[in-house]
Amino acid sequence: MSDIIPVNEPLLEGNELDYVADCVKTGWISSAGKYIDRFESEWAAYCGRKYGIAVANGTVALELAVSVLNIESGKEVLMPAFTIVSCIEAILRNGLKPVLVDCDKRTYCMDIEDLKRKITANSAAIMPVHIYGHPVNMEKLLPIAAEHKLKIIEDAAEAHGAECLVNGKWKICGSFGELSCFSFYANKNISCGEGGIVLTDDPTLAEKLKAGRNLCFGAKERFLHEGRGWNFRMTNMQAALGCAQLEQIDKFITRKREMAAMYNNELATLPLHLPFVEKWAKSTVWMYAITLKDQVPFDAVEFASRLMKKGVQTRPFFRAMHEQPVYRALGLFSNEKHPVSEHIYKRGLYLPSGQAITNEQILRAAKAVAEVLS
Ligand SMILES: *Cc1c(COP(=O)(O)O)cnc(C)c1O
Repeated sequence: MSDIIPVNEPLLEGNELDYVADCVKTGWISSAGKYIDRFESEWAAYCGRKYGIAVANGTVALELAVSVLNIESGKEVLMPAFTIVSCIEAILRNGLKPVLVDCDKRTYCMDIEDLKRKITANSAAIMPVHIYGHPVNMEKLLPIAAEHKLKIIEDAAEAHGAECLVNGKWKICGSFGELSCFSFYANKNISCGEGGIVLTDDPTLAEKLKAGRNLCFGAKERFLHEGRGWNFRMTNMQAALGCAQLEQIDKFITRKREMAAMYNNELATLPLHLPFVEKWAKSTVWMYAITLKDQVPFDAVEFASRLMKKGVQTRPFFRAMHEQPVYRALGLFSNEKHPVSEHIYKRGLYLPSGQAITNEQILRAAKAVAEVLS
C-alpha cells in the first residue's frame, strides 16, 4: 500500500551516491580507505573526542567498548531496564553482571535515584543510554560515578547531536566517560546503512579498541597473536555513506526538532504524554515517542493496530530487560520489578519520525492519532 506512512525512511540526497561510487571506482571496498579515516576523525571531532574507532554496528561497538576496560569477571555493570538488548549483551558477553535501573517517568532515561540504590561494592561501571534523543541527567550521574570509581560506557546510539547541561556548560552526547558508543543504523540521526563507532580520549584504550576490532593481529609479526579480538571492522563504503550524512547532520537535527514541534502542536490536547524535554537538555527527539494517558481504555498494541488501519506505521517501545524470557532463562532478574519501564512499554509507541517524511504526512499521522483517541 503506497499511502502507508512509514515509521522511518532515510534521506540520501547529499553526496552519498558519489562517495560510495568513488569507493567502487577506486577499488577501496574493504576496511581501509580514505572515508574510514575521515569518518573516524570527523565524528570524533563532532563529539569533542580525541579518538574514533569505527566498527560494523552499534551492538559490537558496545561489546568492544566493555571489553577494553579490563573489568574483573563477575563484576556489576549498571544499565537501564528500558533499552535495546545490545546493552545487556555487551555486558554478558564480557562475563559481567548486568544490574538494571528503572527509567524516569518523563524522559524514559535511567532514573538517577534508582541508580544510586543499585550501586554495590561489586559495581564496576555504568552504561547510561540516552533514550529517543533525550540525554540522561549527566550532571547528576558524573559525580556519582566519580564517587564510587565507576567507569562509564556511554550508549549514545539514539542521541547524535543531543546536548546536556553540566555545571552550566552544554556538553554533547558522546563526550562523556571513558568510552562512548554510537550506531549508524539506517534509522539513526545519521547513517552508514549499518555501522558503529567507539570514541575515547584515552590513547591506551584507543589502541586496544583498534586491536580488538581487527582480531588482535600482531604488530611485528602479523599472525602472532597476543590478544583475542573480533572482526568488527567497518567498510570504506559504509564510512563513505557516513561522511556524506555527516555533512548534513545540522539539517537532519533541525528537521527532527521541527517535526516534533509540528506533532506537539497537533497533539497537544489529546490524552497523551508527548516527548518531554528537561530544561537541562537539548533533545534531538530522534523518535517522536508518545504514551497513552491512563484514561485511554486500550493499550499500545491496540493503539498501533488502529493507527495501522489508518495507514500510519508505528513502532512499539522496548520491552524491559527483566521481562525477557531469554535472560530469565539464564536465572537473571527473577523477582525484579521496574514499574516505570513496564508501564511505558504497555502504553507507548513512536510515530513516523524519519527524515524522508513530509509535513503533509506528519499532519495526516497526527490526524489519525486524533481520530483514534476521539
Ligand atoms: C540502535 C541502538 C543500538 C545498536 O545499534 P546497531 O547498529 O543496530 O547494532 C544500541 N543501543 C541503542 C540505544 C540503540 O538504539
